[in-house]
Amino acid sequence: MDIFSSDFQENKKSGGPGFVGIKFCQECNNMLYPKEDKEHRILLYACRNCDYQQESDNSCVYVNKITHEIDELTQIVAEVKDDPTLPRTEDHPCPQCGHRQAVFFQSQTTRGEEGMRLYYVCTAPDCKHRWTE
Ligand SMILES: [Zn+2]
Ligand SMILES: [Zn+2]
Repeated sequence: MDIFSSDFQENKKSGGPGFVGIKFCQECNNMLYPKEDKEHRILLYACRNCDYQQESDNSCVYVNKITHEIDELTQIVAEVKDDPTLPRTEDHPCPQCGHRQAVFFQSQTTRGEEGMRLYYVCTAPDCKHRWTE
């Protein structure tokens, strides 16, 4: 069984969040490279050939990074709690209903610097709560 809905898989294949179109320098027509303005937490496009730079109109790049985790949680199909192949734990009670048992699995997103994140789904019959560590 797929842990994540097919919509989510589609989204990842087509680039999904974080995709940024190619832009060109208005001064010298060279390709602009995305550059992070750490101080203002915005994305800039900068030319490597001259000093030209512009603010990205795609300011949701940062937002996507932040909401991604929540996004992934909402895409977990509730039926995973009925999947007998998934491991179960009784050490992580549901924060919503207090049920003792939850199924757990690793995130399918590979984010090297953060390592693998564990997701939990409550196994109580009428609770579909999902959470992460
Ligand atoms: Zn330029
Ligand atoms: Zn629960």
